[in-house]
Amino acid sequence: MLFSELGLGSEVLRAVEEVGYTTPTPIQEKAIPWVLQGRDVLGCAQTGTGKTASFTLPMIEILGRGRAKARMPRSLILEPTRELAAQVAENFELYGKYHKLNMALLIGGESFGDQIKKLERGVDVLIATPGRMMDLFDRGNILLTDIKVLVIDEADRMLDMGFIPDIERIVSLLPRKRQTLFFSATMPPEIKRLADKFLTTPEEVTVSAPASTATTVAQHLLVVNEQDKREALRRLIATDDVKNAFIFCNRKKDIAVVHGSLVKHGFNAGALHGDMVQSKRTETLEAFKAGSIDLLVCSDVAARGIDISDVSHVFNFDTPHHSEDYVHRIGRTGRAGKLGRAFTIATPEDGKLVQAIEKLIGKEIARFTIEGIETAELSFDADPRRRGRGAPKKDEPRRSGRDRGERTERAPRVERPAHVHVEPEAAEAAIEAHQHKRERHEPRHDRNRDRSEPRQDTRPEGRGEFRRDEHRRDEYRRDRDDRRDRRPRRDEDDDRGPPVVGFGDDVPAFILRAARPPKVSAVEIETVDGVEA
Ligand code: AMP
Repeated sequence: MLFSELGLGSEVLRAVEEVGYTTPTPIQEKAIPWVLQGRDVLGCAQTGTGKTASFTLPMIEILGRGRAKARMPRSLILEPTRELAAQVAENFELYGKYHKLNMALLIGGESFGDQIKKLERGVDVLIATPGRMMDLFDRGNILLTDIKVLVIDEADRMLDMGFIPDIERIVSLLPRKRQTLFFSATMPPEIKRLADKFLTTPEEVTVSAPASTATTVAQHLLVVNEQDKREALRRLIATDDVKNAFIFCNRKKDIAVVHGSLVKHGFNAGALHGDMVQSKRTETLEAFKAGSIDLLVCSDVAARGIDISDVSHVFNFDTPHHSEDYVHRIGRTGRAGKLGRAFTIATPEDGKLVQAIEKLIGKEIARFTIEGIETAELSFDADPRRRGRGAPKKDEPRRSGRDRGERTERAPRVERPAHVHVEPEAAEAAIEAHQHKRERHEPRHDRNRDRSEPRQDTRPEGRGEFRRDEHRRDEYRRDRDDRRDRRPRRDEDDDRGPPVVGFGDDVPAFILRAARPPKVSAVEIETVDGVEA
């Protein structure tokens, strides 16, 4: 099928041609005609399928026929993260270059003033994260009574992040007579309930079985003891021809540790997670896209849906707690027909998590070993959340799960040819080469930087009262969302203590806030948990 057969106008077709797309993807082929007919659409599709263009292209066509009034946007696209919202805005600019549509991007971490000015001028398309959107609405800067088209994108991620109460409130403020496009990678019952509530006789469009992994990604699993994980990661990076990679951690404090450790060992790494100020998030992501950072240590929330088509590797420094996250994580590589490689570094306690992932993807992940790093066995009755607590201290002899008296079962049988060895000498040489490369490229002022100074990447910039207030409000929102959402926020699962009883739904925020680990610099990291960085 051709784009010209979908009912799109000549300006949109010209823009699409200039972007270089020749044929529509399956979701575009199925969804665009329904959207153009004004129908509600329930789309079950992941990022990477061309989903964004499946709603932006027909929306440009529809909105091209009218004009916006001040503070009364005509369409609203809700995205779970700032990065995804910014990506959709880029798509609008690209495909809408021959239309005079006004667009406003309302995301946290950016100045309210500029966003309010845009709203005053009248916008056709509002692209927003739910929190900032509600802030501006509550301040009286937006009227939602003229919304004709609503898009709820990545609905399952909205659920994970605790945004559903905000979404329900936003939808209750919209006109009943509107067109609604609702996309989700998976359709758990809570998402289905929302779809039934928000959509009117929708056309259902499903493009690939939820939670299927791309065939272009070679997947590997290493099982090592907790204290060997960082060394295993370094060896893999140094020996597996890594051009660039996402390195996923389950907890924010581990992002800081892994990032610091990689930097200390001479790797060109950056960190990205939801608690960083927006300017730093954008800067880090741009640096990664531009290739000035090779390795991005990140959380699920920060990297979900990011569209960078040329990433050679994904490393799961931690096995994800939720098996669908595994699919999303490894889907960051092997995009746009390119080949990718994914390595998951599991510890014995992750047995049940690995089992759940293998059940979801319907196959065993090929086992991988590194010469010189002890391969451990998965245990299927350990609690993965207690991972690492029983790790031996620095000078204690290393013991396998079996030695510690844990009852272990055999790991699922895998084809042995999948075992790949990395020679220790080759790894050391490659790591050394990395360090030399970095020293050559490091600017002089950075080389001389006092390494005992804390790195600044996770701190608010503190430029004046306004930014500090904004940061406090963001913290408040996170706490509020935590309270509202019955499901834990995934990237912080392990930071949360046992449930608080006796307060009903009104648990004071300060009780729920996890004790913050001390900020660590690359040098201080050496003493974290008594384990060498
Ligand atoms: P998305 O699923 O919207 O995140 O899109 C994933 C990637 O596919 C993006 O890099 C798009 O630029 C690209 N893309 C979208 N539609 C097409 C198409 N029809 N042909 C080729 N690439 C496309």
